[in-house]
Amino acid sequence: MPSRSENRTQLIESLMERFPHVPREAVIKEDLLRGGIAFDESALSDNEGGEVKPKSYFIFSFDHGTLPELGAAALRRPPEEIVLTGGPYELRRTVVSVRVNPSSPYRVAADDHGVLGLYLDGARISDVGLPPMPDYYRHTLENGKSVMEVAPTIQWGYLIYLTVFRVCQYFGAKEECQYCDINHNWRQHKAAGRPYTGVKPVEEVLEALAIIDKYDTNKSSTAYTLTGGAITSQIGGKDEADFYGQYAKAIEERFPGRWIGKVVAQALPKADVQRFHDYGVRIYHPNYEVWDPYLFERYCPGKERYVGRDEWHRRILDSAEVFGPRNVIPNFVAGVEMAEPFGFKTVDEAIDSTVEGLQYFMSRGITPRFTTWCPEPTTPLGKANPQGAPLEYHVRLLEAYRATMEANGLTSPPGYGPAGPGNAVFSVSSFMDSLPAEEAAPEDVVAPARGR
Ligand code: SF4
Repeated sequence: MPSRSENRTQLIESLMERFPHVPREAVIKEDLLRGGIAFDESALSDNEGGEVKPKSYFIFSFDHGTLPELGAAALRRPPEEIVLTGGPYELRRTVVSVRVNPSSPYRVAADDHGVLGLYLDGARISDVGLPPMPDYYRHTLENGKSVMEVAPTIQWGYLIYLTVFRVCQYFGAKEECQYCDINHNWRQHKAAGRPYTGVKPVEEVLEALAIIDKYDTNKSSTAYTLTGGAITSQIGGKDEADFYGQYAKAIEERFPGRWIGKVVAQALPKADVQRFHDYGVRIYHPNYEVWDPYLFERYCPGKERYVGRDEWHRRILDSAEVFGPRNVIPNFVAGVEMAEPFGFKTVDEAIDSTVEGLQYFMSRGITPRFTTWCPEPTTPLGKANPQGAPLEYHVRLLEAYRATMEANGLTSPPGYGPAGPGNAVFSVSSFMDSLPAEEAAPEDVVAPARGR
């Protein structure tokens, strides 16, 4: 364990030494994702009028402060992602989602020649590239809304992220997941006067996608994700499967096979899951959030009350019969296992528990994936754990994830772009950076839906 006087540079270097099989890039990326980055004004975007693609706030805030606490970054948005290369650790190209933390020891700033770099504890550790403004962001919908608001892209343009319902019907302390700021993020954008559509009309989504389709001439955008808050009752007379499914249906009818359709939703009964598939969705993410039963009950009180952990897991297994196990990819929030006051006290225990969950699903051909927990300060867990989980947990998880995957004869899940250090574009955890680069097996290539 690091001593109290150890600075962050010593911490990452000691972990790189102890875990030589984990790519150095992933150690730094995990640290940036769990703890955030400070931005000099020289590294901020000029919002939608500039040359750098701004942070879209595509679902959660993924910041370590509220908007009013972010200073200049609240007025001039930071970039959506950064790409790291070179430096003393000779980093291969690494795409990192931006989480702002004005007090982070990591800082992106320009040097005297105007060249951007990433600095840790004051020393330059890599070059920094910013995402260029995509052509499709320069056009607006007929009603004046921006493409960034309606259909932002992340993962260096690979994924169109369609949060079509910007709030969650699990509401308040007794229902909201304890690490999730979706409802707060909606409130803070509204309070700041930013455009932030609660329920995105299907027609607006289609119009934004038509702009992307027209201007994304090299077809970088490969997949879309439909998601948003849980729906425990109805929206516009539609339950969760029909609400999210209606977008997939419309997209597949208008742009048959153009993108791989994914949906992140609750673990629904099999008949509802079948409707997702019928609507044209090809990858299903019924996220299980955290494996340990005691923690699931405390962290996901709404899901525990409405569905229950055992039923949630049963439904995940059932959905594999509809989508095929390779195309069921449930997420968990890596790091909350160690959050005070209920989490595991040691990294060993937290890894053992997480691996038990991985083995449960992977032994059945289902490949979970994870995002790195960002302790947003307006959530109960973020408030109690502003530093997030120990970096050692995140590094060891990468090693354990790969080992469990290989022991079960699985490879990187479909719909995430290329794997391997230097290749990966998945930006909110480094699991894809830590897997071997490989050609996708033919059965792993998800056939996009061809309409209904
Ligand atoms: S179900 Fe939980 S994680 Fe998902 S949006 Fe609602 S509160 Fe957030």
